[in-house]
Amino acid sequence: MNYSPKGTKEVLESNNFNFKKKFGQNFIVDENTINSIINKANIDSDTLVIEIGPGAGALTYKLSQVSKNVVCYEIDKTLENILKSNLKDSNNVEIIFDDFLKRNVKDDINKYRYSKLYVVANLPYYVTTPIIVKLIEDNINVDRIVVMVQKEVGDRFKAMPGTKDYNSLSIFINYYYDVKKVLDVSRNVFMPMPNVDSIVLSLDKKDVIYELEDKDYFFKLVRDSFKQKRKTIRNNLKEYNLDIVEKVLERSNFDLSTRAENIPINVFVDIANELVKYDRK
Ligand code: SAM
Repeated sequence: MNYSPKGTKEVLESNNFNFKKKFGQNFIVDENTINSIINKANIDSDTLVIEIGPGAGALTYKLSQVSKNVVCYEIDKTLENILKSNLKDSNNVEIIFDDFLKRNVKDDINKYRYSKLYVVANLPYYVTTPIIVKLIEDNINVDRIVVMVQKEVGDRFKAMPGTKDYNSLSIFINYYYDVKKVLDVSRNVFMPMPNVDSIVLSLDKKDVIYELEDKDYFFKLVRDSFKQKRKTIRNNLKEYNLDIVEKVLERSNFDLSTRAENIPINVFVDIANELVKYDRK
């Protein structure tokens, strides 16, 4: 397979391929970038890899060389011939031409045996968040998620308390995964070139997660706390028992005039657990 920008362009052109903005199609045309992503993912030969959006298959080809099996989801059927030809030597790759968001992933990977499950993808920007949320909510137990995302979106995923990007989504992701940036990627390595740079994040499943009395209640409380970003906890959590919320906040030197963006996960966990215990009394 030819990884040079010129080569990829030729393959796509000879198949009359038109890039589709609506599918977030910006393909990596730089071999160094692909090698760096593969290195950072640190995949072993007993790992099943899910790739969302293989595009022309540049990443897929390398993934197939280091993993046990690769299962890809590609929404754009017009890529079928290009993928078939670029991956003709990779017999451990299955390509499902469908919208990843509509799939029952558990059923799709049921037939595979593996010791670890990774997701590696250069994500379409327009569905980055729903894809990450689905990967977590589907309970398929992904050990590591290595994803290239637009820089601004990635900043939100790894945001820490007290920063402008910290929100309910960062708490949701950081509840289950340790998030770190492993690579900066310039916009120049893509075809067509996007308007922004990207980063690669590695999300590693936490060995120990905070114990929750009621998970749904916790995530609702977190979402409500951030409902109006500039407002205090007192204002956003009016519907909750504020005496209990205040008591828990004070244990960590916060009070009801604190904003959600300054409160760390463990304090939200304590608030939710205390409220649930109180309701059960
Ligand atoms: N992996 C390739 C690369 O790095 O060169 C392509 C990455 S491109 C940013 C995103 C790919 O995801 C495109 O091939 C696009 O057609 C595909 N895609 C977009 N939305 C999708 C969805 N909901 N389900 C599956 N694939 C999707």
